[in-house]
Amino acid sequence: MSELRVRFAPSPTGHLHIGGARTALFNYLLARKEKGCFVLRIEDTDVARSTEESVDAILQAMSWLGLSCDEGPYYQSQRFDLYRTKVEQLLSSGHAYRCYCTAEELDTKRKLAEQEKRKPKYDGTCRTRQEVPADRPFVVRFRAAQEGATSFNDRIKGTITFQNEELDDLIVQRSDGTPTYNFVVVIDDAEMDINLVIRGDDHINNTPRQILLYQALGYAVPEFAHVPMILGADQKRLSKRHGATSVMAYRDLGYLPEAMVNYLVRLGWSFGDQEIFAMEELIEKFSLDNVGRSAGVFNPEKLLWLNAHYIKTGDPQRLGDLLQEYLAVQGVSCDDGPLPAEVVKTLQERCKTMVEMAEQAAYYYCNEVDFDPKAAAKFLTETQQGVFVSTLEQLGALDDWQAEPIEEALGKVMEATGLKFGKIAQPLRVALTGNTVSPSICHVMAVMGKEMALTRIERAAGHLV
Ligand code: GLU
Repeated sequence: MSELRVRFAPSPTGHLHIGGARTALFNYLLARKEKGCFVLRIEDTDVARSTEESVDAILQAMSWLGLSCDEGPYYQSQRFDLYRTKVEQLLSSGHAYRCYCTAEELDTKRKLAEQEKRKPKYDGTCRTRQEVPADRPFVVRFRAAQEGATSFNDRIKGTITFQNEELDDLIVQRSDGTPTYNFVVVIDDAEMDINLVIRGDDHINNTPRQILLYQALGYAVPEFAHVPMILGADQKRLSKRHGATSVMAYRDLGYLPEAMVNYLVRLGWSFGDQEIFAMEELIEKFSLDNVGRSAGVFNPEKLLWLNAHYIKTGDPQRLGDLLQEYLAVQGVSCDDGPLPAEVVKTLQERCKTMVEMAEQAAYYYCNEVDFDPKAAAKFLTETQQGVFVSTLEQLGALDDWQAEPIEEALGKVMEATGLKFGKIAQPLRVALTGNTVSPSICHVMAVMGKEMALTRIERAAGHLV
């Protein structure tokens, strides 16, 4: 193991979103590449907004993407004792003070600042307060430096400097005794020996405040890498307006995890103009040096294109297992009928998502196909009688039930009826699948097996109008 220790620290207030998943992925890839340690920490100090359901959803999404951690999950809600001792430490070293200002007082001050066009900032009333109001609730505030500047060298964005006078005396402990994000994130990153913090650049404004806290608590300051955010096609911050934003929603829509991983990594990172990356290759090639400084734009068509690629090239056995799950969601059981892996082989070239594949595979697993009315009106007519009779005769006599011999047998049907292949294939397709679009009917029949194929052709022959 190298020295590198990184972490993903989601707040469990909802699903794992595209942006969070990408942050997790970057951390994971760098940890794997450097043979470092990837820590998972659930930031659930906001008791009112954190739910167990969200924790489960986040863990499930990470496991679906294959992002296993080496340590954790740690839960901040189980570390309140530690945070309390650190509040005491700050209070006794003079780096923090109790603030008794009421919400109304703060509100009035804020409004006044707005009127006078000053930046709303705590005015420091309680910094020097001598007498302690009895029985009045208080928060604990960090006594932030007022002069000088705080700088850090961001691994992605370069040197970033904030003037300390811009920084507020932030609250480290709320009046209900719970600690706040900026405070506990510092304690945990330090206590967990995190030496590189990779996170979304929506946290950049927090970083100087956190650096001052590291210093006040006597901790070494880690390195930071702030990843640019993800925008929708309209250049606005990615949100529900742009479609599904939760990672698991994409699984439900029929996306494969490797397509998602491949898509996410390219949202902000590049390696020449290469587009397709397997996980092992990403681990080998990933580096923060190739993470861009500008925002990534979420492009659903590209994600779909990658998904189609991974379906096309996927292992039929594995996709067959998945197909079975997607069919189950549609209420279709694979217990009777062809092996899902064989069905996959006929469909994987044609489907962009697993949901699409399940829809197209449904005819393999029904007792009787529903004939599409238009297709039936056109192709299941008395004029096709000869095609059906001849097909049943030729295929009935066939023992070697595979695509090629089936095709040869249909050649004999063409001879007997004097029709071209297209003319006999369409009525048979409707008979076998209920519709006019499907993979090669010779393959479809091979996969269905002789009994199912002939039963369906016989039934259609009985429906000619
Ligand atoms: N819990 C924070 C969030 O979900 C993570 C902040 C961080 O990575 O420092 O935004």
